Amino acid sequence: MRPAAPSLRDRLRAQLADLKMPGALEALDTILAALDGGALQAPAALEALLGAQIALRNNRRLQAAMRSSRLPVVKTLADFDFSFQPSIKREQIDSLHTLGFIERKENVIFLGPPGVGKTHLAISLAIAAAESGRRVYYGTLADLIASLEEAQLAGHLAHRLKTLVFPSLLVVDEIGYLPITRTGAMLFFQLMSRRYERAATVLTSNKGFDEWGGIFGDDVMAAALIDRLVHHCHIVNIRGNSFRLRHHQELGRALGSPRHPPAGTAQRRSRSPEKEHQAP
Ligand code: ADP
Ligand code: MG
Repeated sequence: MRPAAPSLRDRLRAQLADLKMPGALEALDTILAALDGGALQAPAALEALLGAQIALRNNRRLQAAMRSSRLPVVKTLADFDFSFQPSIKREQIDSLHTLGFIERKENVIFLGPPGVGKTHLAISLAIAAAESGRRVYYGTLADLIASLEEAQLAGHLAHRLKTLVFPSLLVVDEIGYLPITRTGAMLFFQLMSRRYERAATVLTSNKGFDEWGGIFGDDVMAAALIDRLVHHCHIVNIRGNSFRLRHHQELGRALGSPRHPPAGTAQRRSRSPEKEHQAP
């Protein structure tokens, strides 16, 4: 007796397995049941099937990126509360997350006092980039410089520079928190010069550009660095309170008003010129 021909469902399963689509395969029965029950129309069912596979793929890419990119935590745009930070233009952040700036090899710089979400948004851009299949790498300025200095001492500088120039997106977090040696500043300048117009970089700093000479210990080099960085650049100036201190409003206000606020942030919160940035 000949074995029974495989059912349509079995053939679908075999096809999804053949195409290596385990996400879609796992969702298949539920989606077919919803179709049979009339809860889904065919186009929505197809979308759900492909969506299940895309979600699995993105998740795998993210897991791999978390291992290779050194991203410290997962922070996404969905977790970001825009109502807490009205100085941020939501459209600008949404538009950055479509990742055109990576294609165009442009930079993004988040400036603002501690706790306002600079690292959060830098990481959410890196995660969006990783999910889209791009190579990303994260480091604080201090970490990146330490790794360059170590490579230079070991005679591997060229290789290390190559590794850091390669990713489509490099995040340089925390410019301005720790002092940098002169050699360190020169190595970082070399890295940024190589990435200039070749690959996108997202940077964060709690200091305005006018203070970068002090951070890098050299006004001329800082000016040359800023000149390259801002040539093709989206600057996001965040004026507001620390999210970390949101339950301690008075302390937050006091700490969020440094004597030297970042460039362009001289007029802080609640003074009328910023009305146009207030959330509706
Ligand atoms: P910064 O880098 O500017 O010092 P972070 O991005 O590290 O600040 O933010 C501090 C903490 O607060 C993080 O856990 C971050 O996820 C959270 N956070 C900051 N701003 C927001 C926000 N608007 N909505 C949700 N979480 C936020
Ligand atoms: Mg930070």
